[in-house]
Amino acid sequence: MLRAALRRSSLPARLHSHRRSFLRQHPRLIPTAEPPPLNAHFRPLFTRSVATSAPQSSPDVYDAPEKLGFDKVSEQFIEECKSTLVLFKHKKTGAQVMSVSNDDENKVFGIVFRTPPKDSTGIPHILEHSVLCGSRKYPLKDPFVQLLKGSLHTFLGAFTHPDRTFYTVASTNAKDFYNLVDVYLDAVFFPKCVEDIQTFQQEGWHHELNDPSEDITYKGVVFNEMKGVYSQPHDILSKSAQQAVFPDNTYGFDCGGDPLDIPKLTFAEFKEFHLKFYHPSNARIWFYGDDDPIERLRILSEYLDMFDVSTAPEESIVKLQKLFLKPVRIVKKYPVTEGGVLKKKHMVCLNWLISDEPLDMESKLALLFLDHLLLGSLNSGECNVGGGAEYELLQTQFSIGWCVSKENIKRVEDLVMDTIKSLAETGFDTDAVEASMNTVEFSLRENNTGSFPRGLALMLQSIGKWIYDMDPFEPLKYQKPLLALKARIAEEGNKAVFSPLIEKYILNNPHRVTIEMQPDAEKASCDEASEKTFLDELKANMTEADLAKLDHATRQLRLRQETPDPPEALKSVPSLSLQDIPKKPIQIPIKIGDINGVKVLQHDLFTNDVLYSEVVFDMSSLKQELVPLVPLFCQSLMGTGTKDMDFVQLNQLIGRKTGGISVYPFTSSVRGKADPCSHMIVRGKAMSGHTEDLFNLINHIIQGVQFTDQKRFKRFISMSKARMEYQLQASGHKIAAARIEAKLNVAGWIGEQMGGVSYLEFLQSLEEKVNLNWNEISSSLEEIRRTLFTKSGCLINLTADGKNLTNSEKHVGKFLDLLPTSSSAKSEIWNAQLPSTSEAIVIPTQVNYVGKAVNLYETGYEFNGSAHVISKHISNTWLWDRVRVSGGAYEGYCDFDDHSGVFSFMSHCDPNLLKTLNVYDGTSDFLRELEMDDDALTKAIIGTIGDEDSYHLPDVKGYSSLVRYLMGIEEEERQKRREEILSTSLADFKEFAERMKSIKDNGVVVVVASAKDVDNAHKERPNFFEIKKAL
Ligand SMILES: [Zn+2]
Repeated sequence: MLRAALRRSSLPARLHSHRRSFLRQHPRLIPTAEPPPLNAHFRPLFTRSVATSAPQSSPDVYDAPEKLGFDKVSEQFIEECKSTLVLFKHKKTGAQVMSVSNDDENKVFGIVFRTPPKDSTGIPHILEHSVLCGSRKYPLKDPFVQLLKGSLHTFLGAFTHPDRTFYTVASTNAKDFYNLVDVYLDAVFFPKCVEDIQTFQQEGWHHELNDPSEDITYKGVVFNEMKGVYSQPHDILSKSAQQAVFPDNTYGFDCGGDPLDIPKLTFAEFKEFHLKFYHPSNARIWFYGDDDPIERLRILSEYLDMFDVSTAPEESIVKLQKLFLKPVRIVKKYPVTEGGVLKKKHMVCLNWLISDEPLDMESKLALLFLDHLLLGSLNSGECNVGGGAEYELLQTQFSIGWCVSKENIKRVEDLVMDTIKSLAETGFDTDAVEASMNTVEFSLRENNTGSFPRGLALMLQSIGKWIYDMDPFEPLKYQKPLLALKARIAEEGNKAVFSPLIEKYILNNPHRVTIEMQPDAEKASCDEASEKTFLDELKANMTEADLAKLDHATRQLRLRQETPDPPEALKSVPSLSLQDIPKKPIQIPIKIGDINGVKVLQHDLFTNDVLYSEVVFDMSSLKQELVPLVPLFCQSLMGTGTKDMDFVQLNQLIGRKTGGISVYPFTSSVRGKADPCSHMIVRGKAMSGHTEDLFNLINHIIQGVQFTDQKRFKRFISMSKARMEYQLQASGHKIAAARIEAKLNVAGWIGEQMGGVSYLEFLQSLEEKVNLNWNEISSSLEEIRRTLFTKSGCLINLTADGKNLTNSEKHVGKFLDLLPTSSSAKSEIWNAQLPSTSEAIVIPTQVNYVGKAVNLYETGYEFNGSAHVISKHISNTWLWDRVRVSGGAYEGYCDFDDHSGVFSFMSHCDPNLLKTLNVYDGTSDFLRELEMDDDALTKAIIGTIGDEDSYHLPDVKGYSSLVRYLMGIEEEERQKRREEILSTSLADFKEFAERMKSIKDNGVVVVVASAKDVDNAHKERPNFFEIKKAL
């Protein structure tokens, strides 16, 4: 479903304890309309003269590394990624560098330190945030934000993992790229934060006292972020699982920080951690792409030569966890609101430590298949909570679990063990094995990393071994072990291959941790009360002088946070000039033709022999009351069988013949039109040899699937309900944004009906109705099919290279012939919107999500591209400083949807509520008083262009072109918008201040927040919003 969701492109990706293995992320086919642009912009900080073409043949290549202080350790050409990889060692410090050369223009740099924590105070996480707050060469408050503002980078991120921290950047522009690399190197080796306690306080934690008469509270970006994490049952579960599976090594602690432990961290420990572990001897550095390999080493040597060798590599070694002698069982509580329905709110999760040593490539591949097969056999139902195999730590873990009702816990545990046992005895179904193999192989071959740069995905694979001093090349060479494994399965049968593994890894493995999660209605308030008691006691024991000192420190910190960097300092950071920016938007080839009377769009792009296709159906003739049923309709299409095949067989067939098929609705407002654009999209991909199979399967699904299985449909309802409940807690900002949009336009209403609080309510009522009135539901599903899947409302989008496009035409023609033609296609008038009153949605949480929005078109505003420059600038300056830095929220941002005209503000993991709304309301004054020199303006413009020009793989290119076609966006319009962006002036900002006044006066507010904060806000501003309890 596309709703032009709030784009959060302006923020670095920060994935803490991001432990999903790379391959598992891949078979993902759920696209958003414009794929999440991880792209943010960047202004080059440092100009240097750079060779932009790679002088590969220069004699330098042979002796330059030596002269620059590096020993070549090893060189390999790896066919799987068509790259030459050279491993260097820096002679003086022992720093290891992998230099990867190929023809990929999306260049990637990464630097990784081994940073195993020895407690749960969150040092690695706080440090990851803090080193980005200014450095020796770039002494700004926040050079990272400056980078975000004015560059063309395609990826910028920092990640904290349980045993490592890494920093990474990508760009297609060589000059931009090296500037970014320099900023990162300076940040990690020479950050200001180690001499500056205020950064530690801001990013980590501090006591805050706004007035000696008020209470002391905890503040800090990481502190607050982790409070959000510790409110979410799934996060609590996965943290508990990791810690219980690894009680004896570093994984027994939380690298992100437990809010109970974070305030124990001292500044001295923080500094010492940096000094020890952020050292070249403890670093692994990665370069990738089509740039000059010598230039890479030259940049590095400038930094590395400043250090001597250290003992960090010995001190940061991760020790192996010994296997338990017998299984362990633990019980954990998680917070829910009082009075919530506690049915199926328990969770049970079984976790195994697979072996007492790291797996080799062959065992890892075997486990990858086994994982796929086991999850396929076990994950038949509701709300799965285990993630299967996790490869990213030193030793591999396997986990599987469910949300269950209390009385079913034991039964579920037994069922899992019995199922696994019988699989070990009988082996897997041959079709299932073939489907798993094809799925895994397809994703390896397609190498579709989505919005992740390919070079970064490769680095993540390689680092999995490299970080533990093992062979960094091995994880990239999957072809040979894959063939060997396939041959073994073909010769000996899958039972001979997998049964011994199941027995060894699971059935006879005593290292099993069973975790039971119990809902606790009192937990949230107890936790809050004990924090308050602790802080009250602290205050009671402070003298008046202490209090005055704390009050002063609080003010000093806020003053610093709210004072912008001086313009001279900002200017020290050079920028690309507008002359460096292409004047035209990126063009995607499109040919619009016709097959059997149906429009066919073709995009001739190199796709490595994969055909990507979208079959699009018009949804505007659907009856309004059927809208909320659409997501379950889609799920039924993919998850129920046909007359001849049950859903397992159908999905195996999809797995054997294609790279995946998905069905989902797409809606958006269209500028200048009252009616939204709404479609159903069936998306699929296959190797070109399987094009016919792909279209046959799509036809099977949309025409052959039976809506008769009541039991299965009930299961979809409870799965969807569990997913929505999870979303409400983990992504309250998305729920709030959907709710606001539903109050402002029809497309927003549709989106909320299919994925917001209204949808959750619909699911709750449907759960009862499905027992009483299944026939009616079943015939509604048939009605949706009859209305949507007709030839008259159809459009086809194809992306592949020219030859494969031509070859696919006959299969498309056959597919279209089989579609029904009859349709009484009259457009339904969806005249629906939620009342535009402000609303507070109460959920069990410790943090809030605060949103406010208005439709600018309704205030008479006419779209101009400058709106994007302005909203980005507001996010990066005003909201960043007030909502994030001094407010303590994880994020605060605004967005302008030029289709609907909705301008919206949103905060994420926010400790405040009314205070944040005041910041939003201050935007008008901020713009009115804004002073901005040319340098700052140029950076804001370049940053916006960077968003427009984000780097995409071919499937996304073809898809974006389709979306533009559906929404009627012409090339002239794109060109005009670009020119408007490029010519944005300060006067545009001033004029926009008036627009921001309308949001202050007439904006709609929706917050997803805790009962306590809503209560307090309600006392302060009675009748300000309606209160609605969810969960
Ligand atoms: Zn963080």
